[in-house]
Amino acid sequence: MTGIRTEMGHNKYTGDLRDVTRYTAGNVQINIAKHSGYCWGVDRAYEQTVATANTKDGPVYTFGPLIHNPQTIDLLNSKYGVDYIEEVDDERAQEGSTVIIRTHGVPPEVQDQFRDKGAEVIDATCPYVRVTQNYAQLLHKQKYHVVIIGDPKHPEVISILAYAKGEGTVIKGMQDIDKIPKNKRRLGVVVQSTLILKKVNEIVNALLARAQEVRVFNTICYVTTERQEDAETIAKQNDHVIVIGGKASSNTKKLAIVAESFGAKAQLIEKPQEIDFAELKEAKRIGILAGASTPNWLIDRARDMLIEHFTKVAVAS
Ligand code: SF4
Repeated sequence: MTGIRTEMGHNKYTGDLRDVTRYTAGNVQINIAKHSGYCWGVDRAYEQTVATANTKDGPVYTFGPLIHNPQTIDLLNSKYGVDYIEEVDDERAQEGSTVIIRTHGVPPEVQDQFRDKGAEVIDATCPYVRVTQNYAQLLHKQKYHVVIIGDPKHPEVISILAYAKGEGTVIKGMQDIDKIPKNKRRLGVVVQSTLILKKVNEIVNALLARAQEVRVFNTICYVTTERQEDAETIAKQNDHVIVIGGKASSNTKKLAIVAESFGAKAQLIEKPQEIDFAELKEAKRIGILAGASTPNWLIDRARDMLIEHFTKVAVAS
């Protein structure tokens, strides 16, 4: 089987470097995708946050929840005293405090506003998102009309658009193509990091019919591509798929969509207790996928819960 290595009992996980694992419990096989859990960018931001909390005397805040994972947010708060603020004018961001910018990035003026208030800013924007921001800035400078394929409400897209001085068009899907102003002959395209390539191709094709020149930077993150490929493999090889991740996490939701598009029944859960065992009654092979903002200990707990359940079922039958 492509990309799958059998390794019972292996549970020493190291983020992106973790191996694919397969477990057997009773008559049920449990297969954990190769790329699951924190991606490099999230891991980096988490480590930066913990290191900052451990070294600063004053309060440390993240601007918005650091990642789309409530359990991690609770842990950051209870163990390291890191809270989050949602507005630039939150009065807690002041002299002596530190504000951490999360992986999605922010418009440049937001960082300036925090600094003007006296707060220290630590920029944990993922370097891959930073590259996309730079492309947007470059395209804008070179007089392209900037097109961002992505969700206009997503913080990453908001930050990218700001680097094009807000003068661009965000296209979420084919229904938005007409939003591109008719008089724009040169389009410069960048893409939200978590998008599915197939969808982007469709939109880029439609853009070709609307302009004389279309310059495209494929800024889909390799992490997204790897995980979506894993989702396809896992969906094809298992009858049920459990996707673990925050319900607000864009990349987690997309994993569930990809898995279902390849015919697997998918459950999207935020914590192991949400596993619907009734739905898994007939399951013989269960795949586990996890978003880039899902901590490894959550994946391990879900795995343990499945193993315990199906071992008990086997003993009882
Ligand atoms: S998914 Fe990619 S772009 Fe997003 S934080 Fe992870 S490494 Fe960075």
